Amino acid sequence: MSAATSQFECDVAILGAGSAGVAAAIGASKAGARTILIERYGFAGGAATNSSVLAYCGLFANTIEARRVVGGAATEVLSSLETLGMDVSPRRIRSTGNWIIPLNPEALKVALDRAAAGSGIEILYRAALCGVATVDGAMRSIDICGDFGVARISARTFIDASGDGNLWHLAGDRTLTGPHKSQPASLPIRVGGIEAGWQESRSAFQAASAIYNAQAPLIRARGNGGVVLEIPGSSELWWMTLDLEADPTDAIGFGQKEIAARDAAWHLVSALKSTGPAFRNANVASTGPQIGVRESRRPATVRRILAEEIITGSIPEDTIALGGWPMEIHHAPGVQEYIPVGGDGVFGIPLDALRVAGIANLLVAGRLIGADSRAFGSIRVMGTAFATGQAAGVYAAHIASSAADIRFQDITRSLSAQGAILAA
Ligand SMILES: Cc1cc2nc3c(=O)[nH]c(=O)nc-3n(C[C@H](O)[C@H](O)[C@H](O)COP(=O)(O)OP(=O)(O)OC[C@H]3O[C@@H](n4cnc5c(N)ncnc54)[C@H](O)[C@@H]3O)c2cc1C
Repeated sequence: MSAATSQFECDVAILGAGSAGVAAAIGASKAGARTILIERYGFAGGAATNSSVLAYCGLFANTIEARRVVGGAATEVLSSLETLGMDVSPRRIRSTGNWIIPLNPEALKVALDRAAAGSGIEILYRAALCGVATVDGAMRSIDICGDFGVARISARTFIDASGDGNLWHLAGDRTLTGPHKSQPASLPIRVGGIEAGWQESRSAFQAASAIYNAQAPLIRARGNGGVVLEIPGSSELWWMTLDLEADPTDAIGFGQKEIAARDAAWHLVSALKSTGPAFRNANVASTGPQIGVRESRRPATVRRILAEEIITGSIPEDTIALGGWPMEIHHAPGVQEYIPVGGDGVFGIPLDALRVAGIANLLVAGRLIGADSRAFGSIRVMGTAFATGQAAGVYAAHIASSAADIRFQDITRSLSAQGAILAA
């Protein structure tokens, strides 16, 4: 660990202010813990705001009527979006039957700040993890660095909500859950300059992809034109069609992928401009600030959710959160498969899937929880990340206050009091 210039103490320290981290912080703080949330960007939201992943999935079961399976912190964030004039009613995707809530990234940043502020969380933005101290198999403190220099945060419990397992990695446990091939990344694009009535020429996205792919680029666009959605409260479209293999833990290679993906986005939108009058002024309004990473490090947890449990809609006894999104598996760039949730369209996420094997006071949340490679396709979505984050936060607060004897019912009681949904 490096020499720290400032020191902070808290009960629960959380790395990453994505859906999981924000919900974890709300959960821990409401359960009475002094909570610090650390984020390397200057805003919260994780993939939604840093990779333009602009739809909440997993807040509803894939049933004919939209049935909520995630409440609590997610409900607070949606209410906060509503006060900013955003329509947060769910929309059903015709092709898959899934319910989503489209997002405006700028409104989301404000909504998340407000939701966090309302819960009394201390947020350290523009602070990246740079060191971890462990003693006798338990974490003691972490070092974070930024323009302020290096600061040390001591806590009783830690939550890795970094998506990439950065806290777990620096804690020294590099035992992965087994060899697996990571799902590919994507670079979603925000496209501006679209004329009204563009819906009538929706096939333009497929045509643009074909024109672009004919140039034999290294990063190909999806043959079906990809996902295109209107971004609420703006005149931009969200276009997700560029998939690529990219590993954020590769120090040099990942930057090269960022360069290549940005270049690809530029050429692709140039192709879109040539497809008709509705798109003649199309432009790249924004990419990034980073490639959207679906999967990278996968910490070893005490328990893993298995695909079979999702297929049967199993609700284990130690369920602390619900999932409702099908197993959406990206086998390779441009190749996706959906495997539906069985039973009543929901499955239970067991507490032990949040506990890191070998480090008693480190929990994981969001896309880091224990799951086999197919189940991962379901648990990683942002709606479910809110649910596992809040559960991790509440559990962490209980560990911090009464490590000796924690009763499972106390955790579920706290979660229910916070509006979390635990029963199908
Ligand atoms: C291209 C793509 C499309 C997707 N489409 C959808 C979709 O339509 N709907 C949906 O619900 N889900 C979708 N997903 C999945 C979803 O976005 C992620 O799985 C989800 O965001 C995971 O939430 P999280 O909170 O675990 O992690 P993240 O959202 O990744 O948040 C992690 C946070 O930790 C921060 N962080 C990481 N390391 C550090 C560090 N060292 N120091 C400080 N901060 C750090 C990051 O900056 C980030 O803010 C998609 C994912 C991708 C990549």
